[in-house]
Amino acid sequence: MKLTVLPEEFRRALPVMEEIEKEGFEAYFVGGSVRDVLLGQPIHDVDIATSAFPAEIKAIFSRTVDIGIEHGTVLVLFGDDQYEITTFRTESTYQDFRRPDQVSFVRSLAEDLKRRDFTINAFAVQDDGEVIDLFGGLKDLEQHVLRAVGNPHERFHEDALRMMRGLRFVSQLGFSFDDETFAAILENHSLLEKISVERIFIEFTKLLLGGHRNEAIRQFVATKCYRYCPGMENAKDGLTAFAQLVPTPFTKEEAAWSVLLDHLEIPTEKVTTFLKAWKVSNDFLRECRELVWGLRQRKMGYYTPMALYRLGERALTVETLLTYYGRPGEAGRTALALAQLPIRSLRQLAVNGNDLKQQFNQKAGPWLKDTLRYLEQGVVESRFVNDGPILLAEAEKFLKQDAE
Ligand code: ATP
Ligand code: MG
Repeated sequence: MKLTVLPEEFRRALPVMEEIEKEGFEAYFVGGSVRDVLLGQPIHDVDIATSAFPAEIKAIFSRTVDIGIEHGTVLVLFGDDQYEITTFRTESTYQDFRRPDQVSFVRSLAEDLKRRDFTINAFAVQDDGEVIDLFGGLKDLEQHVLRAVGNPHERFHEDALRMMRGLRFVSQLGFSFDDETFAAILENHSLLEKISVERIFIEFTKLLLGGHRNEAIRQFVATKCYRYCPGMENAKDGLTAFAQLVPTPFTKEEAAWSVLLDHLEIPTEKVTTFLKAWKVSNDFLRECRELVWGLRQRKMGYYTPMALYRLGERALTVETLLTYYGRPGEAGRTALALAQLPIRSLRQLAVNGNDLKQQFNQKAGPWLKDTLRYLEQGVVESRFVNDGPILLAEAEKFLKQDAE
């Protein structure tokens, strides 16, 4: 099969291919971008595979960056564009079901394509648009089938992450596993234990954001892969419920994870521990914890002023999350309620810690924080006007009553 029209991104890269070929080497477009072109989908990164060794690529191009030379990848800067150019390689010596500890560079395209995960990811495209399809990927693409290249059992043994990659392609593409591939995942699911959580997180998050999330989650359960993901050992029921949500795709990672955490019935105070096991950033963790908290508040009824004050703009996100539960979010009402809060942060309170220390002639201590909190809540709940003298008078009453 031949691509009659190359996408713009490929056309721009043709001069790079020509440079390599001029030196007597082969060069092809490979990987996800070829799959996406054949599916008529937009492409993000153009990967080029070549028979030239990294040192040979560096000799051809004047501007290169070593971004993964041990894996054979050189970044070539060409005009305003940049391309990852990777030497054909095999990954022969796999130990303990993870990435290969050694890659060998080879001169044969077929060897390179053989080590790729799924038939639909194992195409190569020549500069004239000819599609090289050694494993029946075109037919699988047409029939929406995800099939491991070669013996699926061996492939998942070599690198167990491929099982999670397969599940995320189910979600992104809406394809189904062929029977043998499915059976091999089911059989080998426990090998996921060997894979770093960071790598699983990336694939699982892509799964959560995919357009066919519900089906992918069902497959995640059916293949038992969930059992080897942190904190999900007993998550079957929660995941099954999650797979019944309104199928609209999530647009933000934190949103997807928060709705998931809610379904897994992770208590709000345990969200941090749960996500720490997934090694996410502190910002990610905080965002999810607040969204889960807000979601649960909101499911019980409309926000109290203090809940709105705590959530701030996140309350608007919570409203969109509700729509996944089949509830209409109240974005307009919430935007208005936020705008009507007397203050949005402690900084807007008419008195600060220094004012209180001066007024009551006392050093800082727990009393100060307690008093500020008391005033803050009073203002947020519109019991006190946010005005200096009024708040100082309220503080005095509070401290007196506290002393009694
Ligand atoms: P995306 O569109 O999300 O980038 P992709 O298929 O391009 O998806 P990449 O991680 O960019 O995924 O990998 C590029 C290519 O490298 C894949 O298409 C596949 O051929 C190969 N590949 C990536 N990871 C693996 C793996 N774990 N095992 C075998 N082949 C892999
Ligand atoms: Mg890619």
